[in-house]
Amino acid sequence: MSGSQEVLRLPVADGPAVRRASWGLLRDDGPAMVRIIALTCLASLAGLAGPWLLGRIITRVEQGHLTASQVDRLALATVAFAVAQLMLTRYARCSSHRFGERALARLREEVVDRTLALPARVVEQVGTGDLVTRSSVDVATVASTLRNAAPDVFLAMVQVLFIFVAVFVLHPLLGLCALVGLPFVWWVGRWYLARARDAYLAEGAAASDVAEALNATAQGARTVEAFGLRRSRVLHTDKTIDTTYRARRRTLFLRTVLFPVSGFSHSLPMALVLLVGGFAYLDGAVGLGVVVAGSLYMWQLVDPLDRALTWVEQLQLSGASFARIKGVGMLTDETVPDARQPADDRIEVSGVRYAYSGTHDVLDGVDLTVQPGERLAVVGASGAGKSTLGRLMSGVGAPRTGSIEVGGVSVAALAAAGALGNRIILITQEHHVFLGTLRENLAMAAPDATDGAMLAALAMVEADWAQELQDGLDTRLGAGGVRLDAAQAQQLTLARVQLADPHTLILDEATALLDPTTARHAERAMAAVRADRTVIAIAHRLQTAHDADRVAVMEDGRIVEIGTHDELVAAEGPYAALWRSWNGRDRQSASAQASGAPERMCTGRPGTAARAPHSRGYPRDTS
Ligand code: ADP
Repeated sequence: MSGSQEVLRLPVADGPAVRRASWGLLRDDGPAMVRIIALTCLASLAGLAGPWLLGRIITRVEQGHLTASQVDRLALATVAFAVAQLMLTRYARCSSHRFGERALARLREEVVDRTLALPARVVEQVGTGDLVTRSSVDVATVASTLRNAAPDVFLAMVQVLFIFVAVFVLHPLLGLCALVGLPFVWWVGRWYLARARDAYLAEGAAASDVAEALNATAQGARTVEAFGLRRSRVLHTDKTIDTTYRARRRTLFLRTVLFPVSGFSHSLPMALVLLVGGFAYLDGAVGLGVVVAGSLYMWQLVDPLDRALTWVEQLQLSGASFARIKGVGMLTDETVPDARQPADDRIEVSGVRYAYSGTHDVLDGVDLTVQPGERLAVVGASGAGKSTLGRLMSGVGAPRTGSIEVGGVSVAALAAAGALGNRIILITQEHHVFLGTLRENLAMAAPDATDGAMLAALAMVEADWAQELQDGLDTRLGAGGVRLDAAQAQQLTLARVQLADPHTLILDEATALLDPTTARHAERAMAAVRADRTVIAIAHRLQTAHDADRVAVMEDGRIVEIGTHDELVAAEGPYAALWRSWNGRDRQSASAQASGAPERMCTGRPGTAARAPHSRGYPRDTS
């Protein structure tokens, strides 16, 4: 959240990797490529006919042996070639567009696949702004190139090549004049390309930073307000916008050099052909028809050269975007996937150390065994490492040293192989409803589940609202459909868990953000899902610990005590202190309520009263 915090970036593919990937895009649709090349060459050849025939007419008239009917035939042939060029160009463009759309579809699928394949740990570290920019802005830039720029540039380049050859065939002297502009094009092209990649990459990165800053501010709006961070967020966003402004100025400067020089480089040969051709004609070295045809070719050169140069910027921009898109898949987890079947559901944590960044271990040698069917509560002060341990036990990330195994197989390796979902599931406060039908939302947990199983899972978590939906399981959820409230979203999550049927549930503050009434419903649904499973509850409230089979107490990344509630209370250690402090506050709030204080949170424990959730000290559980 902090403005000064460095955001890890996804990598960018280097030049050779981009060239290989571009070649791959062309190769994957080989026959279409051949068709496009053939049609483009034919269209360019047809375009050369007009000036050549006009030159012939002038030469014949000059020589004095041209009849009216011959003029008609030559004029008709000129029109026929023009029509042929039009038709062939149309088909070439049509084929190119279709080729571009197919390539784009493959690219889009690849982006989605690569993004979904990113390990959760990596997504968390790089931030969503960069990923969103790459999969939206960058894909759109490449799409525009594949649809428009690439076909146009290809056609233009073939036309330019054919025109140069035609002028040389017409007269070598005129051919040499035609080449005069090339050094300028070459120089300005090199100058521009040498600077443009970095400039456009910087522009893309700056746009990502703006998106990241806005995203972080919007997502953390409550925190921003609560801690009065408004000014620092505005300053941080201003800084990213300023960087974007400077990056844009740089690319604008490059364009202000590119376009005037390129304009000059194709005006010069036209002037030279007219000048040199005129003198050569006066000397009798060339005919008038040749000079006219040469000038017309030079005039024809302006349009394709202009088009090609106009698109150079787009090509450069999309080259940078393509490199950023290809970079998405380059950051992978070092974890080697392992889809072996675990021998049983025993979870063994041995000597686990873990650091988010740098060398500071937030888990500092954790050892723990969780037996199948056991209910373990993990308690401790905020920042002790409970959530981190829960995340590692659910396969989000791998320990720096030590191991976490289920039935003898590494949990992280099982997760990397996509084989963990039906064994261990982590439930947090985030309950995502995906855009789509209720059935699609449930099927992602169990693709083969029948309607009956889905309805049973919904009934089990008391999602009665599902029975009242007009289209049943086919009801669309999310924007444009039925919007679920927080409790319903959680029931949907729990129904998914029920369908996935994991052996172990790791609960991390799963109901902490819900209001008391909603939390009571959610806890009932949770109780239904918890039945008959191993449950590791990261207990930010002590009632959970009281009800658990065993309690592990964490301090500074270590488990400092482990045992049953009664054992730990009797041991008079850190847990006993926590328990006493919690119980004392509990009594205080009970007497506060008795004296008329409003009830803010009820507990499931008979005989206990309510307490305000924001009171200091160890908060109470709702379970
Ligand atoms: P608990 O669940 O006990 O409150 P956590 O596991 O959330 O503790 O945090 C343990 C330590 O790790 C804390 O110092 C916290 O600041 C740090 N931490 C947690 N999440 C991240 C993260 N995504 N990046 C960097 N540090 C983190």
